[in-house]
Order: sequence, then C-alpha cells, then structure tokens
Amino acid sequence: MNNRQEDIETWQDLLFTANNDFTSVLILGYTGIMPVSTHGWMFPHTLEKYLKSYLLKNNIMTNKQLRKSGHSLKFLWKKYTDNTNVSTTKPLLNKGFNELIEELDEIKTNSRYKLPSTVMTDRKIYFYIVLCSFFRYLIIGKIKYRASLYGLENHPFFPMSYMPTNYGYGELIVRKMLHFTLEHAITFTVMGSLNSMPFDDYSISNTSIFERLDDCPICNGDGSSVAHLDMVKYYRKLF
Ligand SMILES: [Zn+2]
Repeated sequence: MNNRQEDIETWQDLLFTANNDFTSVLILGYTGIMPVSTHGWMFPHTLEKYLKSYLLKNNIMTNKQLRKSGHSLKFLWKKYTDNTNVSTTKPLLNKGFNELIEELDEIKTNSRYKLPSTVMTDRKIYFYIVLCSFFRYLIIGKIKYRASLYGLENHPFFPMSYMPTNYGYGELIVRKMLHFTLEHAITFTVMGSLNSMPFDDYSISNTSIFERLDDCPICNGDGSSVAHLDMVKYYRKLF
C-alpha cells in the first residue's frame, strides 16, 4: 500500500485541475478545435473533478472513497444531490444540468481515441459553463468568486512579454466567453451563430459577477437587440 502524502489529491488539487480542463474546453471551443476526441472527452472530465473537489471539501466522500468511485459522473452527481440542499432556483436550469450529466456520462474514457458519441451543441455548452461555474462558486464561496474572474483569477494565463496588455490570450478569451454566457445567457456556435437562452429561465445570479465590459455591445446598449454582426465582431476581437 502506498500512503505517500503526495499521492493524495486535495480538494484544491482537484479544483485546480478542473479549472485547467474548463479553461481548455473554452479556448479550444473559441478557436474551433471542437469535433475531435480531446475536446469531447474533457467535458465529463471537468465535471468529474469539480464534483470530486466539492465532495471532498464538504466531507461527503473521503479521498479513499473517491478513488474507488472511478469515473462515473452519474454516481458522483447522485452523491452530490443526495447529500446537499444546494440547487438553483430555476427548475429548467436544474433539468438542463440533470440532462447534461446523463449525456456526459455516456462519454467514456476510451473516447480519447476516437470521436465522442455525444455532440456538444451550443445549448449543452451553455449548461456545461453554468454548471462548472456554479461548482466554482460553491467550492470557493461567493466573495472569492465575485472578486475574481468567475473564480479563475489565480489561474495561470501567461501573457507574451511583448503583448500590448498584461493579459494572456487565454484570459481574454475566457473573460469574453464567460461574460456572454454568465452575464447575458448567450453562447456562440463555432460557425458564429448566437444561441440566446431565455434569460429569466436559465440564468442565475450566483454565477454572475455583474461585470460590465466597457466595449460590450449588450452592456452598452439600450436594452434592444444588438445586431448579430456587431456581436460576432466584438466576440472575435481580442485587442
Ligand atoms: Zn456585456
């Protein structure tokens, strides 16, 4: 038996690696590298780590039990829902989360070597982003979540030394994607189409940081709809 301390993951380790998968999924999606195994496989893997981090931090499961539990998302999700009263106030959003877990559970680890069986539509990506962000909110708490880049402030996004800002490309992409999804309930398809979810039914204040971006056409609009092309131009512009 190997009891070396460094072999035991802490909830912080699991959170860090979940955040790394989460930001990787977003950046691959933004750059259009989607319909291949790496991207598809990381969806369930991200949620597995967020769930394990949450369950470990709240003493619902021990490290030893988590190791034995394998990779079943459905099993971990049931542990979470059976042992916590934390759910959102939006029934349709909760339903979307349940369906997402069911579907992602079908993506097994061997999908690393082939095309994933489940196609991640922009609607599913919406639920994925909100659910992952909800777990970050639950794990680190409201104050830390809102004081940072949706709980990702300390994530290593490295800028190049000659870039005109202190931000790395990764951070700019993640900020923009999370802003649209979590502040405005909008996701983009790889083809540049908008998927606007009904805001009142599918958004929650928990995962918002109420950030207003100076150049965002929605934040700066008068509440009427913004032209599609203006949205895409803003979404794609990094500097
Ligand atoms: Zn905005």
